[in-house]
Amino acid sequence: MRSDEQYMRMALEIAKAGIGQTSPNPVVGAVVVKDGEVVGLGAHLKAGEPHAEVHAIRMAGEKAKGATVYVTLEPCSHYGKTPPCADLLIETGVRRVVIATTDPNPLVAGKGIAKLQKAGIEVQLGVMKEEADELNRVFFHYIATKTPFVTLKYASSLDGKIATSTGESKWITSEAAREDVHRYRAVHDAILVGVNTVIADNPSLTVRLPEGGKNPIRIVLDTHLRTPLDANVIRDGTAETWIVVGSEVSGEKKKRYENEKVQIISLGTPYIDIKELLRVLGEKRVTSLFVEGGSHVHDSFIQAGAVNEIVAYFAPKIIGGKQAPTPIGGVGFANMADVMELQIRQVERIGPDIKIVAIPNNK
Ligand code: NDP
Ligand code: ZN
Repeated sequence: MRSDEQYMRMALEIAKAGIGQTSPNPVVGAVVVKDGEVVGLGAHLKAGEPHAEVHAIRMAGEKAKGATVYVTLEPCSHYGKTPPCADLLIETGVRRVVIATTDPNPLVAGKGIAKLQKAGIEVQLGVMKEEADELNRVFFHYIATKTPFVTLKYASSLDGKIATSTGESKWITSEAAREDVHRYRAVHDAILVGVNTVIADNPSLTVRLPEGGKNPIRIVLDTHLRTPLDANVIRDGTAETWIVVGSEVSGEKKKRYENEKVQIISLGTPYIDIKELLRVLGEKRVTSLFVEGGSHVHDSFIQAGAVNEIVAYFAPKIIGGKQAPTPIGGVGFANMADVMELQIRQVERIGPDIKIVAIPNNK
């Protein structure tokens, strides 16, 4: 007989199957256990498709009666695209439900647990809570702020340069590190760059992985609509592109860009305010945003206090030069007392390079 923690760990592993494909929903895993035997497993795989509990209960069939259900997130209690899972658990006659963490979605937020308890089901909350919260940090952030979780990424030389003094940046890091970047892209709803990066590098901003992967929306910050009409993000049609412009761009100019895959979004202000941008993206159901530069754009996100995570790659190369750009442009923080402080979460060697993942303190 395994412990509650062991079954919950199993449910958490199963939940991971949905990472990057459930947006705007959370990832969830469920395990049904009867008399010390695992009789059902399930994961939520896509918004609109059955929740984890539904798959697991269906698999368990008759055996679900009197069973214990381990679920990584509080069962839902509202009618969404699917009927409430709390009702299903009650009707099925399960005896006990072990939950890792509550669902902050105001439509659920404790109501699922209350419903189960009212029906006489024993509920245990908080088993492996930290791991479950970490797993859904993007969803939780989105629910709490209604804005996307922002990850800022850059590839730099060991001396902290993201391009040479002439603006060349292909390639600083190894193919292995670049493949890692594509893996991040595949699990984000959208990628964002500044117009200067589009002009300098003409990136495709698509996912190119041996195993495949969905392309996120490509977003370009371009106040005056300077993106070249023949840029890959405009022409290649491989993914959606949103160009965010200021209020002064004429409708006629916008028309030259717009097509089935390319949209122009005007925030209604002459300049692009990052907080307002994130609010608008949140409204458009972008739950996660991968910001890939350049240094000016990174600076704007840092100054707006809008960064939730930093992924930095360092190549064993020295680019040198006072004029060569660094990851964060602008004027920076003048005093040590004001600098952005981070905690390092992960240090990994990728081929010849090093990856560091850090999160700001108090985020
Ligand atoms: P960016 O790519 O950051 O683009 C900046 C431009 O975006 C601004 O000048 C502005 O132009 C527009 N913009 C619109 N709204 C905003 C806003 N709110 N905040 C900031 N910018 C905004 O330019 P950089 O010159 O800083 O960086 C480009 C260089 O960086 C290139 O040489 C590229 O190769 C390199 N690079 C390196 C990477 C790496 O990881 N090694 C990654 C990405 C780029 P406007 O006013 O006209 O709208
Ligand atoms: Zn549900």
